[in-house]
Amino acid sequence: MKRPFASAEQLHAIAAEYPTPFHLYDERGIRANARRLHQAFAWNGGFKEYFAVKANPNPVILSLLKEEGCGVDCATSTELLLAEALGFKGEEIMFSSNMTPFESFLLAHRLGAIINLDDLTDVEYIAKLPSIPKKMCLRYNPGGTFVVSNGIMDTPAEAKFGMTRPQLTQAVRELLRLGVEEFGLHAFLVSNAVTNDYYPALARLLFEVVRDLHAETGAHFTFVNLSGGLGIPYHPEQKPVDIQAVSDGVRQAFGEVLAPAGLDHLAIVTELGRYMLAPYGHLVSTAIRRKETHKSYIGLDACAADLMRPAIYKAYHHITVVGKEDHPHDHIYDVVGGLCENNDKFAIDRPLPKIELGDLIVIHDTGAHGYAMGYNYNGRLRSAELLLRSDGTVELIRRAETVDDYFATMKFPHSARL
Ligand SMILES: *Cc1c(COP(=O)(O)O)cnc(C)c1O
Repeated sequence: MKRPFASAEQLHAIAAEYPTPFHLYDERGIRANARRLHQAFAWNGGFKEYFAVKANPNPVILSLLKEEGCGVDCATSTELLLAEALGFKGEEIMFSSNMTPFESFLLAHRLGAIINLDDLTDVEYIAKLPSIPKKMCLRYNPGGTFVVSNGIMDTPAEAKFGMTRPQLTQAVRELLRLGVEEFGLHAFLVSNAVTNDYYPALARLLFEVVRDLHAETGAHFTFVNLSGGLGIPYHPEQKPVDIQAVSDGVRQAFGEVLAPAGLDHLAIVTELGRYMLAPYGHLVSTAIRRKETHKSYIGLDACAADLMRPAIYKAYHHITVVGKEDHPHDHIYDVVGGLCENNDKFAIDRPLPKIELGDLIVIHDTGAHGYAMGYNYNGRLRSAELLLRSDGTVELIRRAETVDDYFATMKFPHSARL
């Protein structure tokens, strides 16, 4: 059973001070999870996690991960500027972008970030930088379907990211000619993989390509970037990934593929987003309306603008009615927001305890790709973000938007009265 990381008393006290809806994050959980990851990969001397900023760009969250030894993975100029503002330096920044404007490469280069090339045509852009980076990463797309022990996991052939195998060889040769001295190889083949087998299978694939590229071109590879993709159990029946087992699997592939090729100096790096943050965020909202038609609806003060995943992926997010965790789940509800879109539903036909108006509703696992995917549709204003500190205190780490924020970028006709 999934329970909120804060008690009912804590949640009521927080909601008394900060109006719902808000995203609440759990410092203790975030730090403990980051430590488990580092512990599991401690066998690899160069291990580094580059947190995928897009998953949760809140500066306080990023600083907390920085304290835990993480770097950042950025994909846009804005994310790079955020990393710079927070004091991430040089190789603490991975720049894994695609369809990249030249200005963003320039900025990444100025910051000394490790640039991860998505495409062969990116090489021309690198040639135009003020100097040639010493160290670069390349993104691989093996095409076809990606299969691990329990079946087809995804179809890289349909993904817009990365280079084909022959393009990798060509890119390495061209970059060597330009003067690049150190290489890494990256691939992101499966999203939200809730299995211990994904990283080991991906690692083996990348290790083999590194071995072969090294043999073909003589290029000096120093790291493999397993990117993101490790999943979390959104559904209470799912088993979480066992990070030690994941790491053991990567280590075994490392020993079998890289060690015999004399490449066991390679560092393993990751760009996890979801795995680092998702379970440690709750969207806390209030049941404000009830409606009985062909179905029973509970309307929340939160909506898809606060959490888009159910609307766009039909994603499951567990729901707790605060204080009623142990009540019988004998009511079937659609739990919905108020957008004028029929996909604005956090849950469909969900068995829950009887909900009274005013009940606090926790939507689980919103720490990654939650607030970050928010938007202003229907004039909905973005919520606040709060951090539950390890000592039990609560800190406002981003205020809620106001109507003035919403109006700020608009140009009004002179006749308008504001
Ligand atoms: C989105 C993304 C990640 C993080 O993915 P998660 O599924 O959140 O772990 C990492 N690297 C790149 C390049 C991405 O686009």
